[in-house]
Amino acid sequence: MAEARSNKTKQMNNKNQTAKKNQMANKNQTENKRQEEKSNRQGETVCPYIKKCGGCSYIDKPYKEQLDLKAAYVRKMLADIAQSQEIKIEPVVGADEPMYYRNKVHSVFSRDGRGRIVRGMYREDSHTVVSVSGCLLENRTADAIIEEIKRLLPSFKLKVFDEDTGYGWLTHVLIRVGKKESSEDIMVILVTSEVAFPGKNNFVKALRGKFPMISTIVQNINAKRTSMVLGERNITVYGKGFIEDDSLGMRFRISPGAFFQINSAQTKKLYDLAFDMAGLSGKENVLDAYCGTGTIGMFMSKKAAKVTGVELNTAATRDAVSNAKANGLKNISFVNADATEYMQRLAATGDDRIDVLCMDPPRSGSTPEFIKAASALEIPRIVYVSCNPETLARDLKLFIKQGYAVKRIAPVDMFPATDHCEVACELRRR
Ligand code: SAH
Repeated sequence: MAEARSNKTKQMNNKNQTAKKNQMANKNQTENKRQEEKSNRQGETVCPYIKKCGGCSYIDKPYKEQLDLKAAYVRKMLADIAQSQEIKIEPVVGADEPMYYRNKVHSVFSRDGRGRIVRGMYREDSHTVVSVSGCLLENRTADAIIEEIKRLLPSFKLKVFDEDTGYGWLTHVLIRVGKKESSEDIMVILVTSEVAFPGKNNFVKALRGKFPMISTIVQNINAKRTSMVLGERNITVYGKGFIEDDSLGMRFRISPGAFFQINSAQTKKLYDLAFDMAGLSGKENVLDAYCGTGTIGMFMSKKAAKVTGVELNTAATRDAVSNAKANGLKNISFVNADATEYMQRLAATGDDRIDVLCMDPPRSGSTPEFIKAASALEIPRIVYVSCNPETLARDLKLFIKQGYAVKRIAPVDMFPATDHCEVACELRRR
């Protein structure tokens, strides 16, 4: 009896153990699945601000899925063009490192309901500041510098701007990071409501003491709380007032307000594509329209007879000129002008025969007048780099109407975790 009971107990124990084992196995399976899902996510870390700042709509998706979604979006916008041109849209060129890629980091400074300093981002379409630190896309040193500035402010009695009362000093901090071969060149821009900077020298000393890689500090004056972060006036507080970047195989100077691509690694891939599409032999006359700080044109100048860059922003044009000079490039020049007006002038005078047009307009795209003037010039080859597939589709349709064939459509993921997608296209005169 005792034996039987003990057997029964044994059986029950076995049963319990099996149930426990199954339970454990299930638990492990769930945990493994969770881990797998987690590591599948953008860089194994889940963003704590997801859906709060509204900044990155794809941050919770595995990177592969993000690329699939971007490919689908580009297809949606450009499939009919690809079909009419009998070409296939190429696969999206993905990033090797989809995190911490932003070389430009912006934080708005404000106070919360209890008067504590907060730094972060505006919630989408609002002026409410969401407190954000340690964003998964931003350069990590830049993030640490902003955190240190936040920590230093009270001890220097520097007040954060209060939107309701209109009093206070610091409105935003912007950090720009240039990549050098073995280091980073960092610019700190303190956006303030007024010119005065009490305790300036000691503040600089304290900040640089902790972050010696800061090569320049600029105070930008902007008393207005508009969507424009930077005001007109820059005062160099420390260093040269600009930084440099070597990531594209050349040295580029970046001043506080100048446009520079925010993802250096992907920019290299995009420019390589554009270079390939330009099909240069060394004899061509290239026009780089919407050239920013002249980066694409300078890239092309290595294998072109002559390059002219056209840019509306005066500071960017100035940077472009000094970039070319710093790199000893003699076959490139820049014009500070509206691209449409410039192109129309060229078409009217017929002064310059252009072999390759490279264009990289802002999100709003180009203008019908620009496209008509470029077509009237019968430019044989065009490389159109776009950050907005919607306006790209609109402009490509017009180019096709004006006698161009689209030969290649190649999307590049310049902004992982967001729903944006850059596209490079090659067009040829029919
Ligand atoms: N090709 C550059 C910059 C592209 S961003 C690069 O890759 O770095 C688009 C650029 O177009 C910005 O520098 C902007 O100042 C410029 N821009 C905007 N409208 C313009 C216009 N109407 N004429 C000329 N440039 C313009």
